[in-house]
Amino acid sequence: MPVKDPSKVVPEAPAESADAALKHIVDGFLRFHHDVFPEQQELFKKLATAQKPRAMFITCADSRIVPELITQSSPGDLFVTRNVGNVVPPYGQMNGGVSTAIEYAVLALGVHHIIVCGHSDCGAMRAVLNPSSLEKMPTVKAWLRHAEVARTVVEDNCSCGSEHETMKVVTKENVIAQLHHLRTHPSVASRLAAGQLYIHGWIYDIETSQIEAYDAASDSFLPLTAGEPIPCATPRGRY
Ligand SMILES: [Zn+2]
Repeated sequence: MPVKDPSKVVPEAPAESADAALKHIVDGFLRFHHDVFPEQQELFKKLATAQKPRAMFITCADSRIVPELITQSSPGDLFVTRNVGNVVPPYGQMNGGVSTAIEYAVLALGVHHIIVCGHSDCGAMRAVLNPSSLEKMPTVKAWLRHAEVARTVVEDNCSCGSEHETMKVVTKENVIAQLHHLRTHPSVASRLAAGQLYIHGWIYDIETSQIEAYDAASDSFLPLTAGEPIPCATPRGRY
């Protein structure tokens, strides 16, 4: 199973200088401030003192994934948490940013949906498949232990012929693993039991823009398609 070394798949030489990169970002802000903001002033006035997001969206820090763009959401719609590998550490192991955001989203904001979204060509998944490449990145290595289960499941059960296929399967297994971890958080477990919270596992394909969603009923990933029922990873409520 030959896998590209993620520490070596990074960038060719940047096309622009560091100064030009920053200027591009600041110019973008100025356009937003002068052109976009005035057109949506009503919305921003409403959002100035309160938020009521439709969902929590946990995804990878990868720059190619833009949750608001791919779901056509507005400011205030999504409570987004991002990290390398769209990881959700199991409850109790780490009182970090992800666990804090989950508790806040569920208990303070009362979100009814949590979406865990992985993606194609994920550098974190490549690293999970090739852990020796992370010797010089001890923090990344420690973080991705929360995704190690995905590699084990794939190595033990999948006879993938190519790196492309292996990456696809490990990305799916990682989303399933993070959904399991999500359910260990007491706030999540309680609202799931009450039938007040729904969890979802998605994979976004950068090249085609398609999304496949985990369907607990059939234990498989199904495409999000117009007119079809939305696949759901949520167990049935007990109360
Ligand atoms: Zn990624």
